[in-house]
Amino acid sequence: MSDYLEIVAANAVDVDKNGRFPTESIDALRSAGLLAPQSPRDAARIVESLAQHCGSTAMITCMHYAASAVVQALGSDTQKSELAAGKHLGTLAFSEAGSRSHFWAPVSKATIQDDGVHLFARKSWVTSANHATFFVWSSTPAAAEGASSIWYVPAKTPGVASTGGFDGLGLRGNDSTPMVAEDAVIEKSALLGEDGGGLSVMLEVVLPLFNVMTASVAVGLMEGATQAACKHVSGTKYEHLDSTLADLPTIRAYLARMRIATDQARCLVQDTITAMETGREDVMLRVLECKAAAGESATSVLDLAMRVCGGAAFRREVGVERRFRDARAGTVMAPTTDQLYDFIGKAICGMEVF
Ligand SMILES: Cc1cc2nc3c(=O)[nH]c(=O)nc-3n(C[C@H](O)[C@H](O)[C@H](O)COP(=O)(O)OP(=O)(O)OC[C@H]3O[C@@H](n4cnc5c(N)ncnc54)[C@H](O)[C@@H]3O)c2cc1C
Repeated sequence: MSDYLEIVAANAVDVDKNGRFPTESIDALRSAGLLAPQSPRDAARIVESLAQHCGSTAMITCMHYAASAVVQALGSDTQKSELAAGKHLGTLAFSEAGSRSHFWAPVSKATIQDDGVHLFARKSWVTSANHATFFVWSSTPAAAEGASSIWYVPAKTPGVASTGGFDGLGLRGNDSTPMVAEDAVIEKSALLGEDGGGLSVMLEVVLPLFNVMTASVAVGLMEGATQAACKHVSGTKYEHLDSTLADLPTIRAYLARMRIATDQARCLVQDTITAMETGREDVMLRVLECKAAAGESATSVLDLAMRVCGGAAFRREVGVERRFRDARAGTVMAPTTDQLYDFIGKAICGMEVF
């Protein structure tokens, strides 16, 4: 195992138990040069390997790569060179109290004045809220027509603040808190893309990478749980029968279903990345499918892992219940599974998707 993964694995239980940000793990990723922007294939591989050990670190990294991709595509030369040097931790500040999971429809405001752009917002969920150095931030357009605009918001901007802690069911180290902008002034040059052009940034830059990465987080959680379950059943004895749990055909069949579902989801993610790299015609369908498929598979595989490991699974040391809780988030992170089903259904019926 690489040095940074050892650190991530060593801290995972404490991060979850105490709901604390995995500072050592993010520092280890920075030291390994892994906070620099990555290709979709590398980003997927990295977040999957992180998720096998710590879902929180994986999701923080996923949000960082998603925010970095926008800066890489549309940011200034200074922002790009600082990102490449690993000086930043970024995240997406899209979801809002007003439009909830409908991230494509922000209701927060941005107004252009002489001294800059004034932001007013109530963001509902921002991963790494108290630890990020910048936010890729959505609002309604400042002056143009369109649904949204995207801004580079430095974390130290006066008026930008996290408004709570995070005591969640899963991904407990994520620091995913609400945030506000109260007349926060950013530079006019902080616009990423066109004023009013936020939707195309969301759909073309963020969505493909984000879906592939959140699907990979789900695959990593399934992989970690499947390995933990196999280890548990192989080492757990019924002394009076001189057998292990693995000697039960029912248990082995459940494990086989977990293995198949994990590998199916990973294959779909890999095919999605290939479709992205080659510009294949079905690329958007695959992008939508991979997050829905992997997210739903993760909840069922983790459910099976809890069953296979029995009462022991309720204890932290088996390593299944943490992943069971972590896996729930992927299905409700936007685009949620139900929204994806709607989009996919429209796509295959020849209807307009967005
Ligand atoms: C751990 C965690 C970290 C997060 N981090 C970030 C972050 O860093 N940045 C960020 O911007 N957001 C983040 N989010 C927010 C996330 O992307 C969603 O916006 C949020 O989870 C939606 O929750 P809600 O209660 O607002 O959902 P609601 O919008 O209230 O949805 C409730 C239910 O209605 C369903 N629903 C809503 N609309 C439709 C529809 N059109 N069709 C079918 N069903 C629909 C949903 O699928 C869901 O099941 C995070 C969320 C979590 C859980």
